Amino acid sequence: MSEAQSPQLIDRFGRKINYLRISVTDRCDLRCVYCMSEDMTFMPRAKLLTLEEIARIAKQYVDLGVDKIRITGGEPLTRRNVMKLFNDLGAMEGLKDLTVTTNGTLLTKYAAELKSAGVTRINVSLDTLRADRFKEITRIGDIKKTLDGIDAAVAQGFKRIKLNAVIMKNHNDDEILDLVEYVRDRGIDISFIEEMPLGDTGQHDRDKSYCSSDEVLKRIEAQYSLLPSTETTGGPSRYYRTADSDSRIGFISPHSHNFCDDCNRVRITAEGRLLLCLGQEHSMDLRAIVRAHPTDDVVLRQSIIDSMQIKPKGHDFDVTAKPIIMRHMSVTGG
Ligand code: SAM
Ligand code: SF4
Repeated sequence: MSEAQSPQLIDRFGRKINYLRISVTDRCDLRCVYCMSEDMTFMPRAKLLTLEEIARIAKQYVDLGVDKIRITGGEPLTRRNVMKLFNDLGAMEGLKDLTVTTNGTLLTKYAAELKSAGVTRINVSLDTLRADRFKEITRIGDIKKTLDGIDAAVAQGFKRIKLNAVIMKNHNDDEILDLVEYVRDRGIDISFIEEMPLGDTGQHDRDKSYCSSDEVLKRIEAQYSLLPSTETTGGPSRYYRTADSDSRIGFISPHSHNFCDDCNRVRITAEGRLLLCLGQEHSMDLRAIVRAHPTDDVVLRQSIIDSMQIKPKGHDFDVTAKPIIMRHMSVTGG
């Protein structure tokens, strides 16, 4: 079958790409210790892709077989007029799953609009249930906004809501079971994430705070019997269930369980850089391409197809080394 009849993005290792993550801003209303330094320099606004350019690029991906898009950042809900983008994406034929990753601070304002735009699933980042610790980890945050935001999302009845929790030794590893209880009480899911060495974030020492997924799993198993699940949400989480609840407990383990063999995704940064791997620098400047060809998508489409030739086999993360990737997660789009 010709490419035109069966459009697909397949890389040199035979991996089919059907998942696009788009960062719509590198800015954020929090400063999480594992993600940002205290005094970040953000991109000048003129360098960002416009919302129209983002939708235009996304449309090409959907036409080429991408059926899942996640909007992320920075904090995506802080981008001005971002609801217009959600509405445009929600109306795109062929897109089955439109999702957002957010710190939740603006969900009380936007949960209803996200639902009506067609957002199917929401991930909310929450590493602690304690107000003082939340302030410590996020440097400036007020936990009430995020907790209220989660309640607002639950009330909207999204297909799935999932918490993302980065577990760090001596910061929040004593709250693993409390977080499990919190999601079970609400019938939502959780993924525990191993911290990745992305960007220099200041005083935070990743080597000392590293907590493996196996260790998190062991602590949960001391309380609950976990059943491995074959379910996937199209991302890197490995899931378990407890017998008496609908909540799924997932693990994103870039260090201890490399997920690169099944990688099905690519990312676009807020300035329009296509990143073929979270942990490598292989990239393509899509902003230059859309601006050089403002009315014709042929070159854009072909560039997206050609980019499959530079998708690397996998990342080389090492928590004990200095970050080899100087990009912060907020720039890449987690
Ligand atoms: N601001 C939104 C939020 O916090 O959900 C979206 C962007 S944030 C960069 C996306 C996810 O990346 C969050 O779940 C966050 O916990 C995670 N993250 C940030 N830096 C990380 C790091 N160094 N290692 C692992 N996960 C990280
Ligand atoms: Fe902001 Fe999300 Fe990074 Fe925290 S993890 S600083 S909320 S972008």
